[in-house]
Amino acid sequence: MATCTLLNQLEAHTTADTKLARRCHARSKRTGEPCQAPAVTGWQVCRMHGAGGGHPAGPTHPRWVHGLRSQDWSETRRTINDLAHETRGIEALIG
Ligand SMILES: [Zn+2]
Repeated sequence: MATCTLLNQLEAHTTADTKLARRCHARSKRTGEPCQAPAVTGWQVCRMHGAGGGHPAGPTHPRWVHGLRSQDWSETRRTINDLAHETRGIEALIG
């Protein structure tokens, strides 16, 4: 009977986790209603709406063109712009 109790506890735990899980953000093509299936951990969608899928970002991505709008390059450009802004402020103080 110990295994029966353990199985019951396991099922209860799983059911509670599923009820508390975040819901899928996708909408049904047919009805327009939200999917409402439990979202995969770390994703906003369920397993049927693309969780865990997709191509990894970077130069190997099929939509990669030149990388000038990539996250790394955007951060570098932002840093350069901040430094240029500070330089203008220093120039204004000097005269
Ligand atoms: Zn879904």
